Amino acid sequence: MKIAFFSAQPYERSIFDETIAQPQYARYKLTYFESRLTADTAVLADGHTVVCPFVCDDLSAPVIDRLHRMGIRLLTLRSAGFNHVDLARCREYNLRVTRVPAYSPYAVAEHTTCLLLSLNRKIHRAYQRVKELNFSLSGLVGFDVHGKVIGVIGTGKIGAAFINIMIGFGAEVLAYDPFPSEEIRAIKGARYVPLDELIADSDIISLHCPLTADTKHMIDGQNIERMRAGVILLNTSRGGLIDTKALIQGLKSGKIGAAGLDVYEEEDGVFFTDLSETGLQDDVLARLITFPNVLVTAHQAFLTREALRNIAERTLLSVVEFERGVIDTTACLV
Ligand code: NAD
Repeated sequence: MKIAFFSAQPYERSIFDETIAQPQYARYKLTYFESRLTADTAVLADGHTVVCPFVCDDLSAPVIDRLHRMGIRLLTLRSAGFNHVDLARCREYNLRVTRVPAYSPYAVAEHTTCLLLSLNRKIHRAYQRVKELNFSLSGLVGFDVHGKVIGVIGTGKIGAAFINIMIGFGAEVLAYDPFPSEEIRAIKGARYVPLDELIADSDIISLHCPLTADTKHMIDGQNIERMRAGVILLNTSRGGLIDTKALIQGLKSGKIGAAGLDVYEEEDGVFFTDLSETGLQDDVLARLITFPNVLVTAHQAFLTREALRNIAERTLLSVVEFERGVIDTTACLV
């Protein structure tokens, strides 16, 4: 069975090569394509049965139509998020779709913590200063996370891991999720509150919910207006949760004290790409990264060895399960 692997990066190829070398995957062959999957590059999948895309790949209806015409029978996503996939179109064709439901919530929760601590203690600025032999501390004052109020929106696997880290710091957690969990209720120092209360009463707000029609731009101008002055906003979930232009206004006015972003609503075609020679066409992102109190990482929160290994194993296991006709329900989307 041939698997067309789009948006292939060197750091994942080595782990996929190691994983596929195991006897249970002996009949599978991966073809790596560096290109993003788009309507123009879909033709590369011709002659394959399975396509393995990442979050930056285009899986809109026109691309699905092409893949279906070429006889693709399974999309094995190597991501947890699937907001970029037209699942309704896949269902029409009975094109099976799987994802990696959980690979390492700790990887993303720990990266969120890195963004928070770097911004608060100005590590990104201190690093540059010391390189220039400037040992002054002026402008580097942060605050104790201990005792602060952390608002966590979305208390699934990653939100729960982040809450536990924050509780370890001695912070108080306000959580919001339309489906509250007993695991979070049992944590001393964390409690569920309505979203409005979380928005108004948190010193730090971190987003860990999926991007859906309901959650798109949940952080907009109105909600930013209602936040505490100097709030730190963290988003390692999906870019579309934040209205970026409203965020820029909030940063300009000083309402937002800092923003740590691993995702951006227009990241497709920018993140995972080296634009250091060509420059950036996106003026909104260009403005965003000029703020000294904004840290942008290019969707790297998942990037640990443990997570990559789990992704490789689950992605290939889905192909085995597809062949057997029984796909694990937590991985199966269509
Ligand atoms: P999960 O499914 O375990 O948890 C998501 C939680 O969000 C659920 O508890 C759900 O009830 C809740 N939710 C749904 N709608 C909501 C709403 N309107 N408001 C608040 N909460 C809502 O998912 P997870 O594994 O914790 O992942 C969370 C998100 O992190 C994913 O959707 C994905 O977009 C993102 N992610 C990012 C990276 C990265 O590298 N940056 C990696 C993995 C996942």
